Amino acid sequence: MCIFCKIVKGEIPNQTILEDDNFLAFNDINPAKKIHVLIIPKEHYDSFDVVPPKIMASMTEFIHKVAAKLEIRKSGYRLITNIGSDGGQEVSHLHFHLLGGESVGRLVR
Ligand code: 5GP
Ligand code: ZN
Repeated sequence: MCIFCKIVKGEIPNQTILEDDNFLAFNDINPAKKIHVLIIPKEHYDSFDVVPPKIMASMTEFIHKVAAKLEIRKSGYRLITNIGSDGGQEVSHLHFHLLGGESVGRLVR
């Protein structure tokens, strides 16, 4: 089982920001910015490349809620998802990096 599936099951602890039946947002263990939250579906999909668009639609709604809870919708934020080896993806469970709380600059991480 992948590490994010273990986080979903509670086998690895996490600092939860927001959770519902289908999605989980938690702090990245190695934050690149003041705010660095990972947002995942509880169901395992290897990456954005294989996630059904219907799931993405509800994930979008959930991401908006996370940004609202963090109070960064006005100041802005960056959303990144790495896909596969050329994309620099290390954990093969779909996740979005939500970065903010300060200017994140021009370059992606
Ligand atoms: P990727 O390179 O796959 O897009 O990003 C994986 C992210 O997961 C990295 O930013 C890394 O710091 C984070 N990460 C890896 N293992 C853990 C963990 O056990 N707990 C948490 N909270 N984050 C993790
Ligand atoms: Zn998984």
